[in-house]
Amino acid sequence: MPIACLAWGSDGHKMMAKIAEDYLDNHVKDSIRYYLGGEDFPDCSVWMDEIKSDSTYDYMFQYHYINIPEGEEYRPTENPNIVNQLQAVIERLQHREGRTKEEIAVDIKILVHLMGDLHQPLHAGYAVDRGGNDVKVSFVGEESNLHKVWDIDIIEDQRINIDSCYKWLGDYSVKEEKTDIVKWMKESRNNLKPAYEDVRNGKVDKTYVLKYKPLIEQRLLQSGLRLSNILNEVFA
Ligand SMILES: [Zn+2]
Repeated sequence: MPIACLAWGSDGHKMMAKIAEDYLDNHVKDSIRYYLGGEDFPDCSVWMDEIKSDSTYDYMFQYHYINIPEGEEYRPTENPNIVNQLQAVIERLQHREGRTKEEIAVDIKILVHLMGDLHQPLHAGYAVDRGGNDVKVSFVGEESNLHKVWDIDIIEDQRINIDSCYKWLGDYSVKEEKTDIVKWMKESRNNLKPAYEDVRNGKVDKTYVLKYKPLIEQRLLQSGLRLSNILNEVFA
């Protein structure tokens, strides 16, 4: 798929959606299946990337991330960034009476995808290098960029899968956690600086990969668990 890498690759998105699905209440699963009209839940997590080649959806381009200049703190704005979009989509799903099945299906797909993106540190990055897309690096000898290292390269190289994410389950029980999109974005942002600083001479080496593998597994798990909580609450 020759689409620019701007999110966890499809593996990451589907993994977190599968984790969320494991924790959905049965009647919530039924509701979601009804709205998605037979489309597989984990598959719906990549819809927002699939439509990037369709100009009808260009207005959604900025939904996937938030840019904050280096050294600055988050300030609320009216921009169509990931924080505002997630808050808006949850709000719309909570008040879905009178909206069409198709509109609700689109909102489910937006929610599932953006909850994944929110947990990837490079999605709370800097505009100047487009969230690391313009930071050329060699990934264990192969040409890549810092954004792709986090979206895809480490996941593939280390064969990160649902089971390896679930290893961390004991540390990440989030059942009682309140939905807080800004807080979760700031967690990603806190990992951003080290993600840049640990690249030495343009090289992402094995030490880097092994250092951040657990973090990626934890973020995928956390995002899946949090997504299930949101959906269980919204469709209760
Ligand atoms: Zn995305």
